[in-house]
Amino acid sequence: MPFRTTLPFVCAPSSPSAGEWISALQDAMPDERVVLLSELDAAARAMCDVAIVANPLPDDLRQLPNLKWVHSVWAGVERMMADLRDSDLKIVRLVDPQLAETMAEAVLAWVLYLHRDMPRYARQQAARQWLAHDYVRAEGKTVSLLGLGAMGAAAARRLRAAGFKVCGWSRTRKLLPDVACYAGDEELHDMLGRTDILVCLLPLTPETRGIVGAKAFSALPEGASLVNFARGPIVDDQALRAALDNGRLLHAVLDVFEHEPLPEDAWQWVHPRVTVLPHVSAPTDYRTASAIVASNIARYRAEGVLPETVDRQLGY
Ligand code: NAP
Repeated sequence: MPFRTTLPFVCAPSSPSAGEWISALQDAMPDERVVLLSELDAAARAMCDVAIVANPLPDDLRQLPNLKWVHSVWAGVERMMADLRDSDLKIVRLVDPQLAETMAEAVLAWVLYLHRDMPRYARQQAARQWLAHDYVRAEGKTVSLLGLGAMGAAAARRLRAAGFKVCGWSRTRKLLPDVACYAGDEELHDMLGRTDILVCLLPLTPETRGIVGAKAFSALPEGASLVNFARGPIVDDQALRAALDNGRLLHAVLDVFEHEPLPEDAWQWVHPRVTVLPHVSAPTDYRTASAIVASNIARYRAEGVLPETVDRQLGY
């Protein structure tokens, strides 16, 4: 039996997907032994310099005294950033082109849902009302993306291909074909002012928490819509509710919430202008994600090179 290095998989206790992750990761890395942290004794734990993580408890990571970096199997790492704020452990997040394409498909699907007035026709059906509304071509609508990273850039391509005018906003300026790119706080207002459908694909950081709030809603033209596929707390819920109630916002498609699962008594469930999704816009593909983790770890083992790590200062 050749020597195989041990790779602990560290996840939240009783994580329902742990078995599937370990099996997919093991298939992708036959030269490594991928095991749950609980299966390793203290001596084996001391040998580990890298771990694969899915929402790990900080105490569990402390049981790996020689850990140099961790590879998360999720794209969003805000919970780890908060849990590990006093540690200098390097964190690599998942950047999977397949995940970005899955997200781009979801963005296109729900933008089309709003563009073709589906919530309105569903309300009309419930009232047995036969009434056609004017059609506006995709070319006549502007879809704006908050965030032009892996997810935002893929979504921009799909939306352009579907004929929409596309704008995008990021911290540093991007250059994307046929996309009007805005950057920095001072340009956000300008972009919002020309937006029909706003799609949020930002990471949750101290800067982005609540950024889609009263000020942003008042900058949008009356009758704009919102899609939040990023993280719940980026949208200020009370400001959202007020904007929906006073008609400034026509509809909101929400896949992510401050508390998940969304509590039974949450107002979003029953608001006529809200579509609730149970965090399904871009499910991770175990197989493609494991292949990416495997290639990053193989490169580290062969050349000592770490993939790009999360910026502690920026929080993403
Ligand atoms: P990413 O590649 O890190 O891109 C983040 C983008 O947001 C970048 O363009 C970045 O600007 C921009 N940004 C960050 N902070 C900003 C600020 N303060 N002002 C303006 N722009 C800012 O992230 P990603 O892979 O696209 O993923 C985005 C988020 O999607 C994840 O963090 C996660 O929360 C969410 N997600 C959700 C699901 C789901 O199923 N609902 C699945 C996967 C991911 P720069 O380019 O200038 O850095």
